[in-house]
Amino acid sequence: MNPKIASFLADYTPATPCLVVDVDQVELRYCELEAALPLARIYYAVKANPALPVLQRLVSLGSCFDSASWEEVALCLQAGADPSAISFGNTIKKASAIASAHAAGVSMFAFDSDEELEKLARHAPGARVYCRLLVENAGADWPLSRKFGTTVDHASALMLRARELGLDPYGLSFHVGSQQTDTAAYEAAISRAAMLFTDLAAAGLDIRMLNLGGGFPTRYRDDVPEIDQFAAAIGRAMTRHFGNALPEMVVEPGRFIVGDAGVVSSEVVLVSRRGLPGGGRDGVRWVYLDIGRFGGLAETEGEAIRYRIRTPHDGAAVGPVAIAGPTCDGADILYERSGYRLPLDLATGERVELLSTGAYVSTYCSTRFNGFAPLAEHYI
Ligand SMILES: *Cc1c(COP(=O)(O)O)cnc(C)c1O
Repeated sequence: MNPKIASFLADYTPATPCLVVDVDQVELRYCELEAALPLARIYYAVKANPALPVLQRLVSLGSCFDSASWEEVALCLQAGADPSAISFGNTIKKASAIASAHAAGVSMFAFDSDEELEKLARHAPGARVYCRLLVENAGADWPLSRKFGTTVDHASALMLRARELGLDPYGLSFHVGSQQTDTAAYEAAISRAAMLFTDLAAAGLDIRMLNLGGGFPTRYRDDVPEIDQFAAAIGRAMTRHFGNALPEMVVEPGRFIVGDAGVVSSEVVLVSRRGLPGGGRDGVRWVYLDIGRFGGLAETEGEAIRYRIRTPHDGAAVGPVAIAGPTCDGADILYERSGYRLPLDLATGERVELLSTGAYVSTYCSTRFNGFAPLAEHYI
């Protein structure tokens, strides 16, 4: 457990549920990634945690930003980011959002379809555009495939079309899926992108940027490779496929930068044993917390992201549990099948902490479901 957050919780016992984020830890992760991939420019994926203290710290470190909406662009500007350091990386943008970003000085936009390219030509004339490729998301606990990206052949046609439309066909991007645990995913994606890159350069396009997306994992319940192992795999693949003619490299980490920096403090609302439908009293022990799927833990969908949980009884005897949130919705179950075990002494009214919850929690919180207030946030 992060010692700064531990003493904040001990000193202030803030009302639960709440998210506490150590902004120094955000800085530490940013610097680690910068050291591991010195040739890549870092565009922090704002959606992972768009809180102003996080954005401001990253601005002070010289980070660039990947935003998914005009609202996120505006947040980055508010945090002091230069418009030239902001990319509009969502391939699905409202025309009005493109126009607003363009007017604000943003000049780098993603696309993956003819229709979006036409929109960009109309509302962001002359902008640098990059095409998102469809790549395998195997190995990712939170895949992003299918909805985004296009085939190599289509991307090739789109990039040529971009030039015809007066846009600057700047580069290619991909995303290997979030919480990617296999370094080989990047090697395979780089290999695919590199072939197209070479073809387009040969066709006379001034293509010069490769965006490797995000996906770098946070350690939750299971171990994951270190960032240096990802960097080594990326470095090897870049050298193999581009030799000395390395393009500008961009990475768009979200989870890796903020995941570890956050802890959710939660109260145990109820511990109960529930009978099984067929009878019998030795049912499952259910632990209900005051935060659940609708309080921000959306990534427990399918039990995809398995957070570590700290209790006041760690080290004592444990037994199996199902863990659920406090709402009246049957979908509000965090873990039922992932083999969670918690101390047998854990009791109603006690506090537990969910670790590494800095990414994709605060913003996934519903506003007033069942009357519960949105998740409180403390940035320290
Ligand atoms: C969500 C997203 C990211 C960040 O992904 P992480 O897995 O959190 O690093 C980066 N780029 C794009 C386009 C995204 O949609």
